Amino acid sequence: MNILIINSGSSSIKYQLWRYPERKLLVKGLVERIGLDNAVITHKSDPVYRHEIKINDHIHGIRIILEALTDPEHGVLGSLSEIHAAGHRVVHGGEQFTDSVLITPDVLDTIDNMSSLAPLHNPPNAAGIRAVMQNMPSIPNIAVFDTAFHQSMPQEAFLYAIPIKYYKEDMIRKYGFHGTSYRYLTKKTADILGNKPEDVNGVFCHLGNGSSICAVKNGKSVETTMGFTPLAGLVMGTRSGDIDPGVLFHMIRSGIVSNTSDLDTLLNKKSGLLSIYEKSSDMRDIEDNLTTDENAKLAFRMFTHRIRLYISAYLSLTGPDSTIVFSGGIGENSPLVRDAVLCDLQHMGIKINKALNEKLPRGQWGTISDADSKVKVLVIPTDEESQIAEDTYNIVAEL
Ligand code: AMP
Repeated sequence: MNILIINSGSSSIKYQLWRYPERKLLVKGLVERIGLDNAVITHKSDPVYRHEIKINDHIHGIRIILEALTDPEHGVLGSLSEIHAAGHRVVHGGEQFTDSVLITPDVLDTIDNMSSLAPLHNPPNAAGIRAVMQNMPSIPNIAVFDTAFHQSMPQEAFLYAIPIKYYKEDMIRKYGFHGTSYRYLTKKTADILGNKPEDVNGVFCHLGNGSSICAVKNGKSVETTMGFTPLAGLVMGTRSGDIDPGVLFHMIRSGIVSNTSDLDTLLNKKSGLLSIYEKSSDMRDIEDNLTTDENAKLAFRMFTHRIRLYISAYLSLTGPDSTIVFSGGIGENSPLVRDAVLCDLQHMGIKINKALNEKLPRGQWGTISDADSKVKVLVIPTDEESQIAEDTYNIVAEL
């Protein structure tokens, strides 16, 4: 069975084609700048095929992807009939979806309704689904939700301490994100430890441009740092993470910002690492300038300080046999961040091994704690797309 994986954003579509049950990635690629005259498809065949073309909308974008996949020169398929199913990343599933599902008209309606909670993400996700349905009407489509894994959080974790009617009537609560990554990492951790996923306890750190942490108890999410939106929690590339809401009232009342839209832009796009280092939001740039630039040093310290706080807090939920897992672009690739986050925590049973941490080969999982560390520390490259392919295969195989 060949499965097309689609991750559509407002002006881009990332795609992968997988063959099952072999679990083989056949090809991947990316369409960017949808809606502009100089849109481009980068189809990562060998050699890479790159083509600039005007792409009007997502339906057109999907058609260009399907043409690349079946192109006689750089395609990997003879015809579209060789695609048997599509799996879609959907950011917000609200409380309705606790697992991945076959997309029916009702499911698509619900994804549309969730757009009020994720206005930047769900509309392009739904557009990608509709585009696949229009271009290939006969194949099943599966939705895999970023929020689903966190639906196991208990009420005391997901409710905000505001009048309960705002939860009951307006769906205001903590949802959490990066759930597909955490589900993949939980299963992979179980494989590595020789456990069942339901026996995994740990603190999982997905540290990238967007960053969050998840406490997993008995294989289930019990707490996470992102909230109603992906703005809460850790210091991120351009997002502030946690901030006293009183600061926001003050900024509006005193005219520091003129409206909520400016405030939204300030906290989501102009804050985080970028606002402290000022020259870039990219952790590589910050690390390159740590010894010479005071702002780079401060941004690094603020980033790692907050991660330390959350890891310590979450270990109180996950128990004595916890594992700490680092993942995401920063978590997988930055020994400096991992060391700053976990150094000098012997009193909490955490002994990071500096040599293992520094020498861990890129792109592979590995252990970076001492053999006698009570808390094991792992680095695991995440793979959300393979998890989407896996879910799609499992659901479609049962149809
Ligand atoms: P992601 O959003 O998961 O793709 O992660 C992007 C972040 O990972 C950016 O801040 C990058 O600077 C960071 N990153 C990637 N490679 C490295 C590296 N070798 N060292 C430090 N940070 C890295």
